[in-house]
Amino acid sequence: MTVPTLDRPCAVSLPPSTLVRDQMKDYSEVVIVGGGPAGLAAAVYLSRFRRQVTVFDAGDSRSKLIAKSHNCPGYPAGISGPALLQRIRRQALKFGAAIIDGHVQSIGRVGDAFEVRSAAGVTVCRRIILATGIVDAVPDIPDLSKLIAVGTVRLCPVCDGYEVIGRKVAVLGPEAKAVREALFLRDYTPHLLVLCSPPSDGISALRQQALAEGIEISDSAEGLAAGNRGFTVILNAQSRQIDVLYAALGCTVRSELASTLGAQQDREGYVLVNEHQETSVDGVYAIGDVVRALNQIAVGFGHAALAATDIHNELRGTFRGTETL
Ligand SMILES: Cc1cc2nc3c(=O)[nH]c(=O)nc-3n(C[C@H](O)[C@H](O)[C@H](O)COP(=O)(O)OP(=O)(O)OC[C@H]3O[C@@H](n4cnc5c(N)ncnc54)[C@H](O)[C@@H]3O)c2cc1C
Repeated sequence: MTVPTLDRPCAVSLPPSTLVRDQMKDYSEVVIVGGGPAGLAAAVYLSRFRRQVTVFDAGDSRSKLIAKSHNCPGYPAGISGPALLQRIRRQALKFGAAIIDGHVQSIGRVGDAFEVRSAAGVTVCRRIILATGIVDAVPDIPDLSKLIAVGTVRLCPVCDGYEVIGRKVAVLGPEAKAVREALFLRDYTPHLLVLCSPPSDGISALRQQALAEGIEISDSAEGLAAGNRGFTVILNAQSRQIDVLYAALGCTVRSELASTLGAQQDREGYVLVNEHQETSVDGVYAIGDVVRALNQIAVGFGHAALAATDIHNELRGTFRGTETL
């Protein structure tokens, strides 16, 4: 897919602020919204650049759903999402980042600064990093979080296709998404069934390719039910056993704050950025899953390094700390 390019002028360095300090407000050079892997990694970088940085986190990182990740570099035995978050959080705190558990309600521009509003009050800052992530669309199945924890329901074949080698796998979703995911999984298992939801109404080229590769496709499966060892599903009046169900139902991009700030987005709501992760709004950056890229922890880390370094370079020499905000 072609990623739309960002139509923005070259970022300009903002001059030192002439803000009059208000005792009722908190001050931080950088505010990061989102304490998932991307936001926390940016906090590590910025605090080691000796920038005053505050992370606000509403606490529902996608990583919390990861029972064990096996593709996170540096953890050959794997690591759970919560353990990884804990480690990065500790690292950020060690170098001086502030982390506030809470939801950011709004961000407004005031002159050359921003005001970030949350239940904790108002924080004034010079730069914003949005690391707000996405929310997966999930099937309406009882005990879903337990099924995700044991790996019977999975959401990301790039993350864990390796874990389903040779298993009986079904992919549930609209035809185009589900078939693409099944074709990706074809390198791991020959036992693939696509459950089109909603049912498809024609023979697409993609479907023909999948059929040619031995992938079974159904538009009329019924009675998908979780059991002790996976799922059963009724196909053509016969019960079939499935070991693992991948949901390919799409997601919602958490880009509300980007919208209110006026940052350009693509049609699905992914925030558009330049090569430094800066959005179309001067001083506002976006990193991690909220940007269209491969939704992976390692990608979020890369975005974090780029954004944090650009912010530091822009602020460098003008001021350090909040005393001149
Ligand atoms: C089941 C599952 C398994 C996965 N396995 C892997 C894997 O093995 N390897 C891998 O690389 N990736 C894996 N992923 C993907 C990985 O979890 C994501 O790519 C990663 O979490 C994205 O990080 P992020 O920081 O961009 O967003 P998130 O981790 O989603 O964090 C976003 C944070 O922003 C906060 N937030 C949002 N809005 C606000 C607001 N207004 N105010 C304050 N806070 C806010 C949220 O509460 C959340 O804590 C998996 C995902 C799932 C669902």
